[in-house]
Parts: sequence; structure tokens; C-alpha cells
Amino acid sequence: MKDYLILGQGLAGSLLAWELIHSGKSVIVIDNGHITASSWVAAGLLNPITGMRMVKSVHTEAWLAAADVLYSQLEEALSVHIRHELPMWRIFTNTKQQQAWQERLDEADYAPYLSEIKPAEQAQPYHAELGLGEVAQTGYIDTKLLLTTMKDWLKQRQSYQQMDCDYSSIVMDKDGVGIGDINARRLIFCEGSRAVENPWFGDLPLTPVKGEILTLEHQQALPNVIANFGKWVLPVSPQQFKLGATYDWEHRDQVPTEKAKTHLLDELDKFTGSKLPVKVVEHEAGLRPNSRDRLPLIGGHPNQDRLWIFNGFGSRGSLMIPYYARQLRRHLLEGELLDADCDLARWRQS
Ligand SMILES: Cc1cc2nc3c(=O)[nH]c(=O)nc-3n(C[C@H](O)[C@H](O)[C@H](O)COP(=O)(O)OP(=O)(O)OC[C@H]3O[C@@H](n4cnc5c(N)ncnc54)[C@H](O)[C@@H]3O)c2cc1C
Repeated sequence: MKDYLILGQGLAGSLLAWELIHSGKSVIVIDNGHITASSWVAAGLLNPITGMRMVKSVHTEAWLAAADVLYSQLEEALSVHIRHELPMWRIFTNTKQQQAWQERLDEADYAPYLSEIKPAEQAQPYHAELGLGEVAQTGYIDTKLLLTTMKDWLKQRQSYQQMDCDYSSIVMDKDGVGIGDINARRLIFCEGSRAVENPWFGDLPLTPVKGEILTLEHQQALPNVIANFGKWVLPVSPQQFKLGATYDWEHRDQVPTEKAKTHLLDELDKFTGSKLPVKVVEHEAGLRPNSRDRLPLIGGHPNQDRLWIFNGFGSRGSLMIPYYARQLRRHLLEGELLDADCDLARWRQS
């Protein structure tokens, strides 16, 4: 019998498995081949300052520090280059944003992240009449490479099984929990947006939000920065960049649509003031596992002590998951308390 069965090998399941295995626990991860993996589609952006009001979270420093430790560990141990550091240009699209940036510059805790406002000319070939600010400590995680490398690593340790798990096949007794011939003391659900169907945790405030993203080939040289203008441009090689992402609260499928493609390309045209000669080489769609308060949903089931969940990472999984994977590992193994604002108990009170 294994110590832990993890259902889902997205970023959450992968990084949690890594933490538990490195603490000497036996783990088996089940995944259906990333059929519904938001992590597979994600751009993997790491961005500490977000939104119209240019805010950071109270946890930002802790998230960044944990991400730095865990991604460095993975890169070294698995000999892969998954983390790419790249500055982000925040290109102001209205005066409110410019003003918010200016105000943040007076706040000491924003100093490590924000540059002085730069003039429009520096944004070439992008249009930036109101100037831009540069965000530091940004970049992206190559999530596809992380998932495939982690899957191979788990397979080598006999810690991976590919199957689509039907919730009705999960059985529990006094010793543990099983799916088919796999048995473990505890099961941790890391199934992303599919958790809305989970019979034990489906009542949690998880709202999948559909997003679409394009990979484009281009001839014109682009600056090697992430350009954020509400949508974003992420150069991933000298000839290719990603363009994203849409937010669709209405649909819960993963089908790429012409509507989203046209919208993204129109936004790019507006932003460059011309038609960049681009060729669409990939168009992907996925469902972000969003929680109502944009913070994770972590913890055990109130009546079934063998069942746990690690989910709700919304559109910030790359930045948040390393910190919370470590936190859940410490909670399970050392009894350390979970942060109150990620503990799912916050939704079970009253
Ligand atoms: C278009 C788009 C752009 C994004 N961009 C970014 C970004 O730039 N930066 C960022 O940080 N985040 C981004 N995200 C969000 C990011 O993808 C998530 O925060 C994160 O990847 C969630 O990881 P997860 O492991 O919780 O879920 P998932 O990645 O969805 O993983 C769940 C896994 O479980 C498997 N699974 C589910 N149910 C079952 C079952 N019953 N049996 C077997 N396997 C099952 C799934 O196939 C999948 O492999 C983006 C998302 C989208 C859709």
C-alpha cells in the first residue's frame, strides 16, 4: 500500500508528488494523459503584479521564493530548462493604469518590482502612447516540458499510472482508499477543473473559466520581453510567440473557437497598429480552475479523513503551486497549520 495516491498530474499533482516523494513518502499518481489539463495549455507566466490596479498579494514574496527554490531543484535534478526569466512590459492602455503605476512607485514594498515609467518610443514595435512600466521578477514556466519530464520521472519510479478515473470506482475502508488494484492510505485530488464533478468536494466554490491561446510564427524581430497590454505577447523562440489569453465565463468546454482567435488577432493588430505578418501554428483552449476568492482550495474532507484536495489555482498556478505544495506537505507530514486563506475550511464555516 502506498502512502499517497494523487489523482491528476497537472502542475498541482506533479509538484505535490515531487514534495512528498522527496520527504520519503511512497506516492502513485494517476492521470488520463492530460485530457483536461489546464497546465498543458497554460502560458506559465510568472507575474507578481496583476490587474488594472497593479496589485501584488500579501503572499507574493513567499510565492516567488518557493517557486525559485522548487523550479531550481527540478531543473537541476532533472537536467531541464523549464523556467525562463523575462522582463514584462506593462503597456498602459488608459490613464488610470498609468496613474495607478505612478502611485505604486511611492510604496516601498513595490520597489523591487516596478521601474520608473518609460516613454512610448521604448515600446517599439508596440503602440504605447501612455508609456510603459517594466515589471521585474517575471518570466514563464515551460509547463508542457515540466509535465512530460515529471511524467517520465514518475514512470521510472513506478509511481505513475495512466487511466481516466471514474469517481464511482473509488472505494474506502478502514485501512485506506483504492482505485482498481491501486491502494493508498490517502487520496489527494488534484484534478483541476474536473473537481466540479467530484462527489466529495464538488460543493466547493470552484468555477472553471475557459481560456484560449495562440502560438504564432512571425518574421519581424520582437523585443525579448513579455508585452502585457491586457492581452499579452510572450516570445518563446526567435520565430514564435504566444498570444493570449481570453476569459470566457460562459462555456465549459475545451474547444478552440474562431471567435476567440479573431478577437486575439484583432487585439494584436490594434496593439501594433498594423497587421503583423503572422501565421497561426497552434490554437489551444483550456479551463482554469478558479476559486471564488482567487485563492487555493486545500484541505481534507470533513467526514472522510482519507480524502484531500489540492486545487483552485486559477490563472496563477505557476506562481502559487510551489508554495502551497510545500505547505500541504508540511501540513500532512509535520502537522503545520495551513494558511487560513487557502484552507478550504474557510468555506465550510457557519
Ligand atoms: C489559456 C490559459 C492560459 C493560462 N495561462 C497561465 C499563465 O500564464 N500562468 C499561470 O500561472 N497559469 C495560467 N493558467 C492557469 C494554469 O493552467 C492553472 O493555474 C494550473 O495549471 C492548474 O493546474 P492543476 O494541476 O490544478 O490542474 P490541471 O492542469 O487541469 O491538471 C489536472 C490533471 O488531472 C487530470 N484529470 C482530471 N480528472 C481526471 C480523472 N478523473 N482521471 C484521471 N485524470 C484526471 C487532467 O487531465 C489533468 O492532467 C492558464 C490557463 C489557461 C486555460
